[in-house]
Amino acid sequence: MSSKKTVVEPRSDIGRGDKIALVSLGCPKNLVDLQVVASALRCAGFDVGVGEGEADAIVVNTCAFIEDARREAVAAIDEACSRKHGGGKCRAVIVAGCLPQRYKEAVFEACPEVDAVIGVDDLETAPEIVRRAIDEPGRSFDAVSRGRPKKLFTAGEPWFSLAPGPYAYLKIGEGCRHACAFCAIPGIRGRLRSRPVPVLVEEAAALVGRGIREINVIAQDVTSYGMDLGDGTTLAALLKRLDAIPGEFRIRMLYGHPARLTDGFLDAVASCPKVVPYFDVPVQHASRDILCAMDRRDTIAHVPRMAQRLRSRVPGAVVRTTCLVGFPGETRKDFDALMRYVEESSFDHLGAFVFSPEEGTKAFDMPGAVARRTAERRRERLMLLQARIVAETLDALAGSVVTVLLETPPARRGGAWIGRCERQAPDDIDGLTRVKGLPPTAKPGDFVRCKITGHAGYDINAVALAGGED
Ligand code: SF4
Repeated sequence: MSSKKTVVEPRSDIGRGDKIALVSLGCPKNLVDLQVVASALRCAGFDVGVGEGEADAIVVNTCAFIEDARREAVAAIDEACSRKHGGGKCRAVIVAGCLPQRYKEAVFEACPEVDAVIGVDDLETAPEIVRRAIDEPGRSFDAVSRGRPKKLFTAGEPWFSLAPGPYAYLKIGEGCRHACAFCAIPGIRGRLRSRPVPVLVEEAAALVGRGIREINVIAQDVTSYGMDLGDGTTLAALLKRLDAIPGEFRIRMLYGHPARLTDGFLDAVASCPKVVPYFDVPVQHASRDILCAMDRRDTIAHVPRMAQRLRSRVPGAVVRTTCLVGFPGETRKDFDALMRYVEESSFDHLGAFVFSPEEGTKAFDMPGAVARRTAERRRERLMLLQARIVAETLDALAGSVVTVLLETPPARRGGAWIGRCERQAPDDIDGLTRVKGLPPTAKPGDFVRCKITGHAGYDINAVALAGGED
């Protein structure tokens, strides 16, 4: 698992067929890390991917970027530890990822039954750590490297997918080159490190060869891809290479930065047929003062009319954003500016978070704290506005034709297939498409042309078109 080609020597003597359950929390970038761990465990002779009830050990890969994520992680760790009692088979619980990377000691304090922790730069130690955690009960193992993470992992062999459908994530880099005042991620994940283009093209081609129909290109900020390499590598160049891989599949990018939506990148999206014109670009806020306070000054010139620019330059552009409300100093006027901005932009999808003061970030003890209740109410108002915008957008789409990637067959005869059209990212982040009228030969991974018939909340209802009909 180096930055080049992954070579993990088979060490089947380590695993001895012990069964390992995997619990993935947080974002798809974390899911990719857990796949790396899973692949190393399998290579070492563990039986990976069983249910928690039948596992000899449980690996919980955690997220820790805000308080809510940490709470969710502790609940999942407690649940895993409870499997060590009551006649359960589980002998060890191993906690990996962002939580131990950030708060190693706190993990053992909050959950004393945890047997081992593994940091984000130490994924390759998983087989040895899991083995020892199983064999040496009562001891605690610590595999969290000090300092900022620097490594860059490549998907291992044998390949292991935790995605529950015909899609996969391609992590093109690690860390972040920005330093937003509220964000703990550069501290947890380190500075930007981009993976080389040839390695990514090889990995993507292998995914297509395995039947993957949607490759989701991810990083903390995909639009900064290559900037650390110093050799002119850009996301546009990478997209062109990925687009040239033979096969029937689509490419989607997740998480960009408003200041990095270069003309070259937008032209590449518009000109690559396999690249879905889907832009997930968190703006965080629209008030100039708040963007300054957030240390996102470089976005001030790009946030206004961002969605309009994307739609005018790239036909069919779908725009998702994320906003952060309740940042210290956010006044009613600032929030009203954000509401107006969201209304004008008519984002296709929007997520909103309440500010969480994070240790080690500049915003942690900034003056001007906004009361939690006020921030929650602002978030609710924003999401209500967005729900109306989505309803209007989906109403207007009735009758239009979309290509749906089929994922889950109907639960009962005559029921609807579940899939996603181009405007919907995986893992239910943007809702689903329910498709009726498919032939019995339909299978997961098929692309089908469908007509939108309506919607239920964020989900789209559609009917399959007969061959040739459009
Ligand atoms: S760009 Fe995103 S990941 Fe990077 S510091 Fe800012 S909020 Fe955090």
